[in-house]
Amino acid sequence: MPLPDDFLQEVKMRNDITDIASSYITLKRTGRNMVGLCPFHGEKTPSFNIYSETNSYYCFGCGAGGDVVNFVMRIENLDYIEAVRYLAQRAGMRMPEDNYDDSLSKLRKRIYEANREAARFFYKTLYSPVGASGLRYFYSRGLTDKTIKHFGLGFAPDSHFELSNYLKNKGFNDDELVLANLVYKNKSGRGTNDRFYNRVMFPIIDVRGNVIAFGGRIMTDQKPKYLNTSDTPVFNKSSNLFSLNNAKKTADRTLILCEGYMDVIAINQAGFQNAVATLGTALTNEQAVLMKRFADDVIICYDADEAGQKATQRAISILRNSGLNIRVLIVPDGKDPDEFIRKNGDNGAAAFYNLINGSANDIEYKINKIKKKYDLSSSEQRVRFLNEVAGILAGIDNRIEQDVYASTLSQELDVSKEVVMQSVLQLGRKKQRNTRKKQFSKLASDLTGRDDKINPQHREELRATHAEETLLSFLVNYVDSYTEISSKISAESFVTDFNKNLFTYFSQKITEGYSPLNTISNDFTQDEVNKIFSIANICRNINPTNEAIEEYVRVLNEEKNKMKTEEIASASDETLSDYIMQLKANRE
Ligand SMILES: [Zn+2]
Repeated sequence: MPLPDDFLQEVKMRNDITDIASSYITLKRTGRNMVGLCPFHGEKTPSFNIYSETNSYYCFGCGAGGDVVNFVMRIENLDYIEAVRYLAQRAGMRMPEDNYDDSLSKLRKRIYEANREAARFFYKTLYSPVGASGLRYFYSRGLTDKTIKHFGLGFAPDSHFELSNYLKNKGFNDDELVLANLVYKNKSGRGTNDRFYNRVMFPIIDVRGNVIAFGGRIMTDQKPKYLNTSDTPVFNKSSNLFSLNNAKKTADRTLILCEGYMDVIAINQAGFQNAVATLGTALTNEQAVLMKRFADDVIICYDADEAGQKATQRAISILRNSGLNIRVLIVPDGKDPDEFIRKNGDNGAAAFYNLINGSANDIEYKINKIKKKYDLSSSEQRVRFLNEVAGILAGIDNRIEQDVYASTLSQELDVSKEVVMQSVLQLGRKKQRNTRKKQFSKLASDLTGRDDKINPQHREELRATHAEETLLSFLVNYVDSYTEISSKISAESFVTDFNKNLFTYFSQKITEGYSPLNTISNDFTQDEVNKIFSIANICRNINPTNEAIEEYVRVLNEEKNKMKTEEIASASDETLSDYIMQLKANRE
């Protein structure tokens, strides 16, 4: 049984999406809507719209759209029932007694519990005789007992069954533990093996305090050094960060982005709570967007080796696209931050603080890096240096910032500032042309339905799809238009299957007296929900006059009855002449 529609309607009515969204992002009013930077993709200019009339949102940048339940699902990483429960509680409402399907939400709860128990087990083991080697390892890296406790670090014993036996005694079954990725089915298929053994363990905790995954580090030189939980119903490695639960508490909206768990922990122990790390993968857009929720400034603090510097360049472009201010901290003598702090002993914290203060911003960092490649005493190399740097400056979309760097460079290299700016602007125009080309091809692909994965018939049935989507958009924005539309067409009039199903679904909701978009977050996938909201957007501000409805119905009928080329080739004369008569009639 799904949740009762009237209950959902009330939950949504009592939770204004503008209120909820503004606790995550800054919104500005434009006309009847609110706009802001999208919390679901990285952007510097706002394309995220909130429509209070329909209590929904849509992003023109990434195509994310949905209602208030869907917004909470995405931003808080909740499933449907959890999101409804969250909103009901927020509005002081009580969830209906069981008769709805909350199996996914129950399963997720079990996984959280299993992870928490596993973390307790690893921690206890670390301080038992079995964990001695692990504890020695942490001490050798300079960690105190207080730090170990704060991060809940632990040890997975050198056994394939100890964790699963422990958790089974606590009432968890094989299926739950496999889904949590704490164990895996062994080859014989008869039993399970622990995923982590003979490793020191780092629990990964989300911003709400749930243990969502683990990283395990082997203490020898064996590869791979780290083993992480694979994605599970509660964990996605590309959209979480290690220690964000600690870092989000810092007041100055600055995060230190490190390469590894040990760096984060060492930096924390030195007194900086705001360090985070990715979870065994390179930085993703989702992680940058997540950082943006808690910070305006990010200090990149990767290893000084070549791999670390490559990762830095990559991180700079991802973070910049998310509108974050960036600084790059370079640890001297090719050390990683953890080593650096330890090596400075009691002075470690202060020395690291000085590094933070002395860190260059991303543009300075890039210019310094390029500078190292050239011998600036040679005029020929100076020209090449300038050309390369002009490319960097052309990528900045702030004229004042460009101007400042151009001034510095002109003084340093003893060339006129105008010359520097000229080549910056020239390259800038080229970049702009490329961006425009890209926007154009995106627009073309939208218009031709070439990349429509949700409605694959779109590309073959352009005209029909457009008419269908317009009519559906009328329906969801102006429920009153249902009477007029349904008097002229039925689901059978639709050409593409996805839109046909949508029409059936909306019709049913409307005849039952509900808002057609009320339950889509539960009944459709996230990608489908995005698509539905992009359809809804087509006619958000266009009134469905009877003439407009008639026109789209006519187009749809025409497309429905149009004969395929191959059919025309094999049709009898009689069929053909009927067909032509019908086309004529449609035109009139
Ligand atoms: Zn977006």
